[in-house]
Amino acid sequence: MDIMNTDGMLRLSLLEGQARAFLIESTQLVETARRLHGLSRIATAALGRTLTCTAMMGAMLKGEKESVSVTIKGGGPIGSVVTVGHADGSVKGYVDNPGVDLPRTTKKLPVGDAVGKAGKLTVVKDLGLRDPYVGQTNLVSGEIAEDFAMYFTASEQVPSLVSLGVLVGDKVEAAGGLIIQMLPGASEAAIRSVEMSAPMFADISATMKEYHLKGALEQLLVHLQPEILGESQPVFKCNCSRERIERMLITLGREELEDMIATQHGAQVDCHFCNKRYEFTEAELQALLHQATGEER
Ligand SMILES: [Zn+2]
Repeated sequence: MDIMNTDGMLRLSLLEGQARAFLIESTQLVETARRLHGLSRIATAALGRTLTCTAMMGAMLKGEKESVSVTIKGGGPIGSVVTVGHADGSVKGYVDNPGVDLPRTTKKLPVGDAVGKAGKLTVVKDLGLRDPYVGQTNLVSGEIAEDFAMYFTASEQVPSLVSLGVLVGDKVEAAGGLIIQMLPGASEAAIRSVEMSAPMFADISATMKEYHLKGALEQLLVHLQPEILGESQPVFKCNCSRERIERMLITLGREELEDMIATQHGAQVDCHFCNKRYEFTEAELQALLHQATGEER
């Protein structure tokens, strides 16, 4: 049975322009990631939260060629969590260890234990300039939302409230997120009313499950006078292609290709982001070797 896709994302102005917000329902997006990677429940929560935040960060970009990449490396058993987002709402991502499992001591999935907190959150933004923007902060808890809040506040110097949630059983039941950022010149009263609302945002996946995007907007933000500035469709989408993989093989260089031909008589390349497999015959590798040799001259 197909579930109706209710995913969506809103870009909002709050409190007459004193703050901006991004609100997202990302249930199908996270379910797609879970299925593609065969994620355990903890891995679904960890990657799902990160993908949800990355989709909102993509909506902060201006141009369609721009991208934002996030790497969370906390030393925990999940390894690295890696995501990439674009302005149109498309995101992709993976974790090193999709099967990670840990005993549950409370009702909540121990995401922080799986991710670890002895490490960093790194954000790279490719804004089409010569050098990408790179920002980095130490992890707070490995629970993801707190770590992003620290990143925005410390690295981008924008005081931010971040709530991310994934409700997962046999499949993803609901996922969503909210970022509220205070803008320069916000009054003390505006800051206080956002801070005092924080407890309402604590269980955002349950809110999305019950009310979906527009209902959640009413439930969570109506007292902050939200004004919708834009709407987009978040989706898990990988932009890999045979041509891209061929380029990658060519850039490995002549020796590497000759070695693949001699020892493996072909190559299998799996895309990290979507698990799609690309196969190359010995003859196809020979053709790429020909190109690589031509480029080295
Ligand atoms: Zn791919």
